[in-house]
Amino acid sequence: MSAKKEKTWLTRTKRPIVIAGPCSAESENQVMETAKRLKTTGKVDIYRAGIWKPRTRPNSFEGVGVVGLPWVKRVKEEVGFPVTVEVAKASHVEQALSFGIDILWIGARTTVNPFAVQEIADALRGVDIPVLVKNPINPDVALWIGGIERLEKAGIKEVGAIHRGFSNHGEKYYRNRPQWHIALEFKNKRPDIPLINDPSHICGRRDILQDVGQKAMDLDFDGLMIESHIDPDNAWSDAKQQITPETLGQMITEMALRQDFEDVLPMQGELDYLRSEINHLDDELINILGNRMAVARKIGSYKKDNNMTIYQPKRWKNIMDKGSKLAETNQLSDDFIKALFEAIHIESINQQEKIFKNK
Ligand code: PEP
Ligand code: MN
Repeated sequence: MSAKKEKTWLTRTKRPIVIAGPCSAESENQVMETAKRLKTTGKVDIYRAGIWKPRTRPNSFEGVGVVGLPWVKRVKEEVGFPVTVEVAKASHVEQALSFGIDILWIGARTTVNPFAVQEIADALRGVDIPVLVKNPINPDVALWIGGIERLEKAGIKEVGAIHRGFSNHGEKYYRNRPQWHIALEFKNKRPDIPLINDPSHICGRRDILQDVGQKAMDLDFDGLMIESHIDPDNAWSDAKQQITPETLGQMITEMALRQDFEDVLPMQGELDYLRSEINHLDDELINILGNRMAVARKIGSYKKDNNMTIYQPKRWKNIMDKGSKLAETNQLSDDFIKALFEAIHIESINQQEKIFKNK
């Protein structure tokens, strides 16, 4: 394990360090207006804007490209924010550096690819610039740390990490499941690296942003990266999760922050750390059960439409047998897993019964 965290360029101002700005730079006016209004809140330290956007599917807006860099440069010069953009390949690095961008970040879809991260690291050899590395889209701490090590080996002195959650098929509540225990594992392995939470990409929606950001503060993250747009509903990317600069200012104002956490840290023993891990795993369990019941309700509708009975003994026996085997490999007793699955089954049946009665 590395040494305890030193104050770095990324964390020296205050805790939490707040990085905010639009998902994507869309126009010079939108970039400047967002920056000015964020400045007015007095809550933001660093301005972000996506210039090149890695999108899941083609034909989505893929960023304005290099024409947006002078707009971001204007934010730095006229509004006074240090500025950060996402880079995904060597040419992005060169262009960003030529426009005086202060900090670079590597996106989740790039961190998964060691070739891409290495290409960026090589382009940065001999350059003194802080780089933030988002977690890879898959829950793999080694890959996340590996990306950071590639930059460190290339001589980058200030590296930060961004926790933006992990993609998960069937997830309903979050856009990217936070899996807080993975962020905590990262923190445990690399306590020297500033860790920033990105509630925007975890939530994918506005109504739970504050809750997720607060959770990150309670877990002693160093900062937050939050997307903000002057007209969120009409944003060209990630519209559902963006908030106005004023809402963002309010959100940060309302957060309960333990400012002098460093002083309290020695008293925060192993037990507190483990308890917070348990609390977040419990939250995950409840969210997973919620997702499971949503699928059960869909099955309920199908059974109803096809005149099938709710209780299907053969299917249930299969579930139990499979559960018992997996329980054994996880050091869980057979009695426990059976009791747990009985309870889940009863809830599923109740939810399906409601569907049968409702329609
Ligand atoms: C972003 O920050 O706009 C972005 C593309 O995020 P991520 O890499 O976390 O998907
Ligand atoms: Mn985004």
